[in-house]
Amino acid sequence: MTRSISIVLVALAAATAVSAQQPRQADLVLTNGKIITVDERFTIAQAVAIAGDRILATGTNDEINRLAGPGTRRIDLRGRSVLPGLIDNHLHLLRAGNTWMQELRFDGVESRKKAVEMLKARAKAAGPGGWVFNIGGWAHQQFADDPKPFTREELDQIVPDNPVALQESYYQVFLNSKALTAFGIEPGKPDPSDFIKGSIQRDASGKPTGIIKGDIAATRPVAARMPKLPADQLEASTTALVKDMNRAGLTSVGVPGCNADVLEIFQKWKAQGQSPLRIFCIGGAAAGTPEAVDRSIPQIAQMKLFQGDSYIDNVFFGESVYGPLHDPMFALKSNPTPDQLAQWRRMAMEIAKAGLPLHVHAELTNTIDAFLDQIDAVNKEHPIKNLRWTLAHINQINAAQLERMKALGMYAAVHPWAVINGAIMHEGFGDGAYDMPPLATLQNSGIMWGLGTDGTAANQTLPFVTLYFAVTGKMAGGMKVIKQTVSREDALIAHTRKNAFFVFQENNLGSIQQGKLADLLVLDRDYLTIPADQIKDIKPVMTMVGGRVVYDAGTTASTR
Ligand SMILES: [Zn+2]
Repeated sequence: MTRSISIVLVALAAATAVSAQQPRQADLVLTNGKIITVDERFTIAQAVAIAGDRILATGTNDEINRLAGPGTRRIDLRGRSVLPGLIDNHLHLLRAGNTWMQELRFDGVESRKKAVEMLKARAKAAGPGGWVFNIGGWAHQQFADDPKPFTREELDQIVPDNPVALQESYYQVFLNSKALTAFGIEPGKPDPSDFIKGSIQRDASGKPTGIIKGDIAATRPVAARMPKLPADQLEASTTALVKDMNRAGLTSVGVPGCNADVLEIFQKWKAQGQSPLRIFCIGGAAAGTPEAVDRSIPQIAQMKLFQGDSYIDNVFFGESVYGPLHDPMFALKSNPTPDQLAQWRRMAMEIAKAGLPLHVHAELTNTIDAFLDQIDAVNKEHPIKNLRWTLAHINQINAAQLERMKALGMYAAVHPWAVINGAIMHEGFGDGAYDMPPLATLQNSGIMWGLGTDGTAANQTLPFVTLYFAVTGKMAGGMKVIKQTVSREDALIAHTRKNAFFVFQENNLGSIQQGKLADLLVLDRDYLTIPADQIKDIKPVMTMVGGRVVYDAGTTASTR
């Protein structure tokens, strides 16, 4: 008995010795860099080794070079910094595939002069009569050189031969004369019936000014009239979208409402081993009336999440539960009624009973209080502690609400609409807007919170602009709009490691650590040391998903 045990021990020791002498060889090593691992200790390493789709090791140049063999590809980082791939926990990405190629996006454009040049160039490319448009993602206050709205006359001058529709977030749309004519919006004629009453702005003589204004419902008829992408161009449009996201540093996205047609394209890419971006869907059978709640309840019981993998999966019910309690984007106050809340609770009860994680749109103080009251009641019957119930957006959350959420075992997905809408929010909320969102309060509360955008319409999509906002309190273009900021380390953690939790991938993603998936960015400058005002200007020079290069600016030399 004793003898056979010692034989086993000797055999184990021999096996260990062999593997120590011949560790698995790296397929790729990146050396001479500043690897910002974002692990629990925020370790900075010099080099990283990748084998297959995972991180083999991080360490010094010497340690990592020992893992390289004759077949190993090498990248000399020449001092450049490396971050984990950035994760946006809430971006309406798949929906955008349907329009991206046609849209003239202003994400990150800080100069009105440049926007005007872009309009002219796009009109030329579209040819006479072709639409020039975008569906949100910007606001004119981001134009640091001249932050003023567009007028109909000005747009007529810039783009005389094409219809133009430029949608600022969900706040208003600027149209030129050709677009107004195309819509049948004319002096002396009644408004088209699908436009919200009063949303079409007219001057004293009844002439339309070119502005459509009044929240999401007002902008929707314009977006609905934009030209539809031919089905055979959907993949090209989605490719352009994903390229832009990879170039901006995104490698994973939580996606409310995964559109089936675009999802199919991601599934095809995955089957080909070419997924450029990880997609974690937030979906479900939201209801808008008590009768619809009746119909949704049996569907909730049938809903199956987590049937996918680390490339595509369904992870949350959301982002809407009961339509009448879905805070409109520019509302200043909400008054949830007992009837509405009773319906919301019926839905939430069923979601908890089915054991589903919930990621729900909640913005205004009264709404958040009312939802927490309902969740308290639900929790007594069907505990939610391990279900990662998450309130999303929550720009108007306060410290007391965060304490309630923590006690319930809830989480906070923060989407600062102020990144483009800060100036508009100050018009509406006054000084209250300085705490929307209250980032320092969130950080100090100790709640698990992650950053996202809620792009592509409500907000811009660039993660380094979001990080700049979180660190400086400045919206795109530089106007100071919030007072509560966080350190650049905490902002980065919220956009990487903590967001991995919000897509149920904390064991695979969010930091550069042995065993995790090799999603990372090589940056053109050091996120940790450049002046904070330059964080928005950081450009990845290389983006990697699962050890595969999905974006390469061509400035990182690699050798074998
Ligand atoms: Zn939302």
